[in-house]
Amino acid sequence: ALWITDECINCDVCEPECPNQAITMGEEHYVIDPRRCTECVGHFDEPQCVQVCPVECIPVNPEHVESREQLALKYRALQSGA
Ligand code: SF4
Ligand code: SF4
Repeated sequence: ALWITDECINCDVCEPECPNQAITMGEEHYVIDPRRCTECVGHFDEPQCVQVCPVECIPVNPEHVESREQLALKYRALQSGA
């Protein structure tokens, strides 16, 4: 999963781009729910939030480093409503 650092300027452009509804407004800036972020695996070749973020504040979450296989499994679980 990816995560949003405190460099986020709350520009709102990433939230509607997420195919998994993983991005929401947190207490001070936007946040990514690691349970819903597949790094866009299953939907797109590249993480859509990273593509649109103007300040490049969306790195890999060091506490949720996942393989492509793990991300694909998460995608399938989300698709089945789990
Ligand atoms: Fe959503 Fe994709 Fe960004 Fe993860 S990488 S938060 S799934 S847009
Ligand atoms: Fe924050 Fe980047 Fe999303 Fe804009 S696109 S709200 S700066 S994480």
